[in-house]
Amino acid sequence: MREKTSILVVGLIALHFLAAPAYSQAEAKSQILITNARVFDGKSDTLADGMNVLVEGNKIAKISKAQIATSPGATVIDAKGRVMTPGFIDAHIHLMAQMPFAQLRASDDLWIAYVGAQQAKTELLEGFTTVRDVAGNTFSLKKAIDRGLVMGPRIYPSGPMISQTSGHADQRFLTEPPTLLGGHVPFMERQLMGITVDGETQVLTAVRQVLRHGASQIKIASGGGTGSEYDPLDVTEFTLEETRAAVQAASDWGTYVCTHVYNTKGIRRAIEAGVKSIEHGNLLDEPTLQLMKDKGIWLSPQVLTFTGYPLGYTDEQKAKHDQALAGVDNMFTMAKKIGFTKIVFGTDVITNPEVFARNTREFELRAKWFTPAEILRQATSQAAELLALSGPRNPYPGKLGVSEEGAYADLLLINGNPLADISILTKPEENLALIMKDGKIYRNTVK
Ligand SMILES: [Zn+2]
Repeated sequence: MREKTSILVVGLIALHFLAAPAYSQAEAKSQILITNARVFDGKSDTLADGMNVLVEGNKIAKISKAQIATSPGATVIDAKGRVMTPGFIDAHIHLMAQMPFAQLRASDDLWIAYVGAQQAKTELLEGFTTVRDVAGNTFSLKKAIDRGLVMGPRIYPSGPMISQTSGHADQRFLTEPPTLLGGHVPFMERQLMGITVDGETQVLTAVRQVLRHGASQIKIASGGGTGSEYDPLDVTEFTLEETRAAVQAASDWGTYVCTHVYNTKGIRRAIEAGVKSIEHGNLLDEPTLQLMKDKGIWLSPQVLTFTGYPLGYTDEQKAKHDQALAGVDNMFTMAKKIGFTKIVFGTDVITNPEVFARNTREFELRAKWFTPAEILRQATSQAAELLALSGPRNPYPGKLGVSEEGAYADLLLINGNPLADISILTKPEENLALIMKDGKIYRNTVK
């Protein structure tokens, strides 16, 4: 009986090969051909008209003005002259902090995860196919998205932000003593949202612990923040040695450190220690921005988050928020003046997302200082360049943020031309006709 079965199996396998047509190799990967698109490649100021784009599996296989042959069974989508862009990248978000801090403190991990999963889906349907999460426990959410259990963008997780006692990650009540003096593990640390440590040894331990969870990059804090209650924006956090320790532990794993900081002193110290990305930067001065330009340091600023008060903010926090908002105009005006272009797109919306309507408003807000092409570069190829600094810890080591042959098939078809009017991106339901991530279509209203 067993012998008969194996003869049958061998026979069936032989038949399969005999019957296999010539295109069997191409057939192995599903094909989607998008015809007649106006392509923004993620880098240039102009569109390439009348292009055909072949997606094979999860990559862009071919882009050509000439017709592209497909295998039988390929899906063909006529873009009818719509603009195609790479999927957008938000380089500064917090998927796990989409509720007021008081609620975060009182919630169990599962509730935070469900809310985070909902936010991940929203991000993808707003056109963000990749995000860098810079404080929060997104490790399992990332895994669930990558395995197709949950809908959402690619995630570059930082895991918990690491800061000093009284630093930006220290969200303890004044009545809570530090753990060293017998206090409980603070909620930020329990939920892998933030870790409070002091001294080089503790910094090394914290960074190594976070890398063990699967962080693609490390987030620290080098100055005061608005989300934290007790550190004014002018203070400097972590000594040079502590910051160096973080950079050392990260670079031993082949990756980099980004840091939360508004003020010039904190930025300069972080750069001296080897930090590669300045998160916010609102209060920097021109010589410091010039230093960043000379050293090739990235600036990861946001506007949207400063246009409203996150829910639950105290009067002191609101005042810090206003101070940070007041610095944005100067920061971007200086950047234009000195030709500083290493800027990425980010939103940093925390607490309740409805306070800020939707994250795509950031596109419109930046138009006060930047051209649509500059903003689109910040949200595509430039953000991808920053994310790639994670080197061997890069969870998606292919080409992101560009419409090029060989790049990941993360792309959008847009009704209207965002290079002429970037504000159309604030209405993703109306204007994002097609959303593709990793070769898979998540929305298609192309008729
Ligand atoms: Zn942030």
